[in-house]
Amino acid sequence: MERTKYPSIKEKRLLEEFQELTALDSVSFHERRMADRLKEKLRDLGFAVYEDRAAEVYGSEAGNVYGSYPGTLEGPPILLSAHMDTVEPGIGKRAVVHRDGRITSEGNTVLGADDVAGIAAILEAIRAVRESGRPHRGIEVLFPVAEEAYGKGSTVAEYERLQAKEAYVLDLSGPVGQASLQEPTFVSFEVEFVGRAAHAGFAPEQGIHAIAVAARAITQIRQGRIDSDTTVNIGKISGGKATNIVPESVRIEGEIRSYVHEKALEQMERIREICERAAAESGAAARVSSRLHMLAYKVGEQENVVRRFRRVCSELAIPCVLTATLGGSDNNCFIQHGIRGIVLACGMNQVHSTEEFSSVQELVRCASIAAGLLMEE
Ligand SMILES: [Zn+2]
Repeated sequence: MERTKYPSIKEKRLLEEFQELTALDSVSFHERRMADRLKEKLRDLGFAVYEDRAAEVYGSEAGNVYGSYPGTLEGPPILLSAHMDTVEPGIGKRAVVHRDGRITSEGNTVLGADDVAGIAAILEAIRAVRESGRPHRGIEVLFPVAEEAYGKGSTVAEYERLQAKEAYVLDLSGPVGQASLQEPTFVSFEVEFVGRAAHAGFAPEQGIHAIAVAARAITQIRQGRIDSDTTVNIGKISGGKATNIVPESVRIEGEIRSYVHEKALEQMERIREICERAAAESGAAARVSSRLHMLAYKVGEQENVVRRFRRVCSELAIPCVLTATLGGSDNNCFIQHGIRGIVLACGMNQVHSTEEFSSVQELVRCASIAAGLLMEE
């Protein structure tokens, strides 16, 4: 990479740290080893470190890890964040660096670049900035647990501990330089259809066939891309006991995403009505429950948090692409707590699969961006 006004990233050190951290088992709710290691690293960097009580809330291993370090530039600190947990299969991971710079797992686990790529970039950026001796903003880091479980860690984070008003969440797949400014409302739902059991051979007319009721409802529910903002999916169905019993109960589970909060709620209402009507028509019952996991947000392109990112990309000659994602991240929680954040691509691809990969070049780019963000107004 060409010389810029930002400090240079030490590729070997970054890569070694990436390998060290991906080798730690850290599936959701089992982040103890990762938390301990990151606390140690932050302390070595001179950070004030704190771990909250998320472990008690969830009966899990570790809390969210916070670090803060004073800056020499004016203004509130900048928050950098990446989650500590991984999805499964995530036990016994080992990062293999190929000759062309591509990084993969050994093939039987995820790589865990989601989200160690973000963590490693943050740590290397901090080191580079500090070693340069140049002025930088105050630095806050937050490494949440259980992001992959609908952001459970960041949901219970102690936001009063954070002074930052702007955040960069390094947790997006795709080429580094991409940033997501928008996330959807996300609702999950579950419907249990309850009919009546009967012997399928001796007295089928005495039964109310829950599978048939569910099937009627499902064919009436619009699924897939409802409009440019909204998707609906029923992803799971279970029920029935045996081939000789008229099934008494069936459960379906699904989700709704929409960039427009009201549209998500509207879809949920429609699904509820369809299920209840289909059940009533057959003398069955439909128990509908839903949960709101995330609230839609949109950060404006003219907001400072975005403009700073653009300046850094342009200084580094990395193409900057502003997008929206129908996925979720810890940023959703940050926004609810008044922190304007955006989500940055950090060198992870084909995440949540054993095909997941990263590359040395992308890790370096991401760390360079993170360093730049700490040095800009
Ligand atoms: Zn992630």
